[in-house]
Amino acid sequence: MTMQADLEMVKALLDGSRKVVVLTGAGVSAESGVPTFRGREGLWKTYRPEDLARPDAFEAHPELVWEFYNWRRKLVAECEPNPAHVALAELERALPNFLLITQNVDGLHARAGSRKLMEMHGSLWQVKCTVCTHAREDFGELEDLPECPVCGHLLRPGVVWFGEPLIPGVLKLAIAQVSDADVFLSIGTSSLVQPAASFYQLAKDHGAVTVEINLDPTPNTGFMDFALHGKAGEILPELVTGLKDRAT
Ligand code: NAD
Ligand code: ZN
Repeated sequence: MTMQADLEMVKALLDGSRKVVVLTGAGVSAESGVPTFRGREGLWKTYRPEDLARPDAFEAHPELVWEFYNWRRKLVAECEPNPAHVALAELERALPNFLLITQNVDGLHARAGSRKLMEMHGSLWQVKCTVCTHAREDFGELEDLPECPVCGHLLRPGVVWFGEPLIPGVLKLAIAQVSDADVFLSIGTSSLVQPAASFYQLAKDHGAVTVEINLDPTPNTGFMDFALHGKAGEILPELVTGLKDRAT
């Protein structure tokens, strides 16, 4: 089948859906200029992000990890949501029952207007104390080793690092939502990071139609009902154009 025919079928699916759950990954923000982790441009200095975004790296070299996060915060602050983010916010507004689960920590979905949004890996714009309960949203410039205003200990980025458990309750909630979907879309994710990489299987087991949108095939492509290959910022606007507004 041609890509255009697949696109029309996915559009019809969305029009007739009861509940749509979308999972997004770094690919959705690539067209905004935010580097993905697996691409070559993901490297920072000579480090691989996977070697820095981990609790043991922070323990051993907090200043290096903070330097990396301050660089990412600055980079993302200069980026804008792209047509993929905008289209997903439009999709939310057109559908009666919708949830967007993102692995991204850049905050671009919220900036594009998404509200039914679960940032399952936290946010670059959250900081929290490594010792006490202090946590806050912070869009400002941070020191190299920022201190907690309450107890004076080191702050850390409010993101979920590789090897860390998800924020309590988030996984349970995500599983319940994915299981209830009748259409599940996986967009711009390499499908290598668990547990999100298995959400499509969960959705499928509960009867959902599954759709992947990615520049390239992923390990999950063969198991999807539909796979649309191309840029999320080009495919998503086409998908939402002319969609019936059923939000009321
Ligand atoms: P990933 O870097 O492993 O994979 C990105 C995927 O996006 C690849 O499969 C690639 O083919 C695809 N892609 C690239 N450009 C695309 C485009 N224009 N349109 C559609 N697809 C495109 O990302 P991941 O699967 O999200 O896993 C990485 C982990 O790192 C996540 O857990 C996330 O928390 C974190 N991360 C977040 C950001 C961010 O917030 N923007 C950026 C990098 C990594
Ligand atoms: Zn503290």
